[in-house]
Amino acid sequence: MTNQDIIRWLDRIADELRANTHYLTQLDSPIGDADHGTNMNRGFSAVHAKFPTMTAMDIATQLQTVGTTLVSTVGGASGPLYGTAFLRAGSAVASKQELTASDIVAMLEAFLGGITARGKAQVGEKTMVDALTPALHAARQELDQGASIADITAKAAAAAEEGMKATIPMLAIKGRASYLAERSIGHQDPGATSSWIMLRCLAEVCADQ
Ligand code: ADP
Ligand code: MG
Repeated sequence: MTNQDIIRWLDRIADELRANTHYLTQLDSPIGDADHGTNMNRGFSAVHAKFPTMTAMDIATQLQTVGTTLVSTVGGASGPLYGTAFLRAGSAVASKQELTASDIVAMLEAFLGGITARGKAQVGEKTMVDALTPALHAARQELDQGASIADITAKAAAAAEEGMKATIPMLAIKGRASYLAERSIGHQDPGATSSWIMLRCLAEVCADQ
């Protein structure tokens, strides 16, 4: 995976978040404040606007640019969470010209590590962590079996989708949804959904290679 593939990935995320703005905001309506879609779309539109300067950057600098852009434009809980995730993902692949399968897994690990460092959520608390944790486990398992980047990212995306669906019966413990206590049960977490979208986009870019 090269720095041009990172741009392809980010471009796909920007497209998908634009297409799913309403959907993500709808998910954030019963258990939040109906802004997750607009927050994420604002952030990735700002990232998209920086592509002309980002194409020449190395991978770590690209990911760190995404991080700082999200922190300064997204707002809400998800801005600092995804911002820290991309900043740490960048640090994890510092000075790499091309990402191998194990670099990609290290990047995902750092991404999730940024979210948990910032938000302190654990699995089962109805957040993006519930999509990203099974995704990382699946990716690691595939890596250990010598799978290709395409297979690693496809399995990670599939596990994130399962994890996202598994948030529906969960009681929210972290974030705005936790204010609803029992009434948070029965709704899919918006952040877990945007995390799945990002991983699905990664798998799509890696499948195209
Ligand atoms: P806000 O809740 O401030 O309106 P968003 O609507 O953009 O921000 O994002 C909400 C999402 O943020 C939730 O669906 C959840 O996945 C995620 N989230 C909230 N708090 C945490 C946390 N402490 N750790 C991980 N994810 C969190
Ligand atoms: Mg919200």
